[in-house]
Amino acid sequence: MTDEAILVTGAAGFIGSHYVRTLLADGSGPGHKAGTPRITVLDKMTYAGNPDNLAAVRDHPACTVVTGDICDAELVGELMSNHRYVVNFAAESHVDRSISGAADFMRTNVLGTHTLLDAALRADVRTFVQISTDEVYGSLTTGSWTETAPLLPNSPYAASKAAADLIALAYHRTHGLDVRITRGSNTYGHHQYPEKLIPLFVTQLLQGLKVPLYGDGLNVREWLHVDDHVRAVELVRTAGRPGEIYNVGGGTELTNRELTGRLLAACGAGWESVEQVTDRKGHDRRYSLDCTKIREELGYRPRTDFATGLAETVAWYRDNRRWWERTW
Ligand code: NAD
Repeated sequence: MTDEAILVTGAAGFIGSHYVRTLLADGSGPGHKAGTPRITVLDKMTYAGNPDNLAAVRDHPACTVVTGDICDAELVGELMSNHRYVVNFAAESHVDRSISGAADFMRTNVLGTHTLLDAALRADVRTFVQISTDEVYGSLTTGSWTETAPLLPNSPYAASKAAADLIALAYHRTHGLDVRITRGSNTYGHHQYPEKLIPLFVTQLLQGLKVPLYGDGLNVREWLHVDDHVRAVELVRTAGRPGEIYNVGGGTELTNRELTGRLLAACGAGWESVEQVTDRKGHDRRYSLDCTKIREELGYRPRTDFATGLAETVAWYRDNRRWWERTW
């Protein structure tokens, strides 16, 4: 194991697997010594963790995949001692599931993050990147949140992520651990488990089924392509500042109704395929991030045009039916 090795948790999921595939594909990961393991994936392989997401890197000499729980202090402690960096993607991530039962969210997102931080501190880890979300800020009608906006989470998912952020920052302020936090907006792209809006609607429409649109459909989300999200995470890991929070937005704000219209068009379906359903409990109305800080400090700008990214995402689900059919 090199001195520069990265422990990437939750990397059998959507964004984490993209991060690992990207680092290993472009060789930008630390080390560069052929045959030296540089990235260790730690993933519990929940319903959202899919080993197929790592198929492209499973046999890469720089990648090791460990199936395990970030709440397992013994395992985490053993792994941590061989790594200089941690990027924590592991989470229960679906808001609707947190409404029907939040116990796993508190366990993984709060206690699991604490377990990692504690082990990182003891192992003298150089940098710990905590992957957070814009949902910790709550909901707003006008303007955009900067990183100093108050944390006013509404869903149990968002509250568990906000708690993790506060614990991570406490480890920086109290112990001096180099913790950096990214708060990404709604992320889309290929390999996303078909429960979030875009992959759910696409896979339903591709089967000729109806899609459920919550309430009046006027909730606004800011869409971020997964390529841009992982590039921002890597910028923060390598060039960000200890103890700092960085918003990561995609720049495309759409109501769910507008997004549904685009998905219907991309899948060749009409509005008769849409079923208006009772709104999600406590449904946040609008999210919007001010990304001045990451733009000015780290030169981050989203590069993927939304129309192109969406078309490519729909095409991927059309061409990779076996991937998503196996998730049921
Ligand atoms: P995902 O649900 O696709 O993947 C989560 C991964 O974590 C899965 O592979 C799962 O097996 C693993 N996991 C769950 N519990 C675990 C545990 N106890 N121990 C080890 N592994 C465990 O999630 P995602 O969409 O890839 O999100 C990754 C991170 O990014 C999360 O922290 C999420 O809060 C954050 N985020 C997501 C979005 C988004 O739109 N998807 C936006 C902003 C931030």
